[in-house]
Amino acid sequence: MIPDTEHRDINIRVQLASFLGTHLAGIGRAGVAKIFGAMNLAPPVKEDHYEEIDRKLLLPCIKKFQHESMQAAIYEAVDENDGDPTALTVSGDGTWQRRGFKSIHGVAAVLSCNTTPKVLDVQRLSKKCLICTGALSVKNKDLDLYDVIIHNHDCESNYDGSSGGMESQGIQDIFKRSFPKYQVQYTRYIGDGDSSVMWNLTQHPPYPGIEIEKIEDINHWSKKMLYRLEKLAQELKDTMLDPEKKRKGIGGVNRLTKGTKYDQQKHSLPKYVMEAIKPVFEDLASKETLQHVLNGSSQNANESFHSFLWSMAPKNRYCSGTIIDS
Ligand SMILES: [Zn+2]
Repeated sequence: MIPDTEHRDINIRVQLASFLGTHLAGIGRAGVAKIFGAMNLAPPVKEDHYEEIDRKLLLPCIKKFQHESMQAAIYEAVDENDGDPTALTVSGDGTWQRRGFKSIHGVAAVLSCNTTPKVLDVQRLSKKCLICTGALSVKNKDLDLYDVIIHNHDCESNYDGSSGGMESQGIQDIFKRSFPKYQVQYTRYIGDGDSSVMWNLTQHPPYPGIEIEKIEDINHWSKKMLYRLEKLAQELKDTMLDPEKKRKGIGGVNRLTKGTKYDQQKHSLPKYVMEAIKPVFEDLASKETLQHVLNGSSQNANESFHSFLWSMAPKNRYCSGTIIDS
């Protein structure tokens, strides 16, 4: 593509920008055709060319930037790391294209735990491949053509387990390639309640001789605390704890209340309430438990990455693994 005039140059730039734009806006070629029409611009390139340019020009470009960006994030994490610079603390999580456990595509991501967390690596897992599925329609009519298609495509399908196991598999893949890819090891892992991820990392250690330490997500820990307190309040509902004022349980005004805004005033709890909830604090705030939530680490950044990812590869729309990759 060598532009011969200024106009043509502009047109090509608009065309190329539109490729990226369609992905960002999630409207595809048909959407661009409408916008170009309204703006009195020449229509976008024909459908078949469009896909080819997408695959041969845009995708490699995005992949290159993606790699550079993640490589830079690794350097940053190594720079900010105390102790062994190549042993990083990461947070990981999985996300699915569709809710529930029937999703065809899933993505596992590992993020750095710096002041500004960044995506270090992602792994897409797909149970189906568009081309494989499409080729089935010619299988009966033309077996040779079917074989050609199957042998000459980059298969998107890379996972055949259950959708629920995608997170665990994806995280494992990311950990396994951290050394060949970036020369670092992820030795501390922040995860949510999905214990299968940690179980998998313990059963199949990605780094020989190195045990990965699990750090609990601080939000998860707070939830645990809330749950324990609520359970306790329920249990003590009918227990007379303050015979003087004839009050039962530990809930209510001036005691443990739920859902009220913190008002910055001085607070104190009656002694019997303190005594009643003490075991919960002793348990959850023990040195051993707190060691796991150290650094106040959380998975908030992962959640934010997920919503960004699926806004580009919308859950309600049909989409292929290639789009998720980009
Ligand atoms: Zn395939």
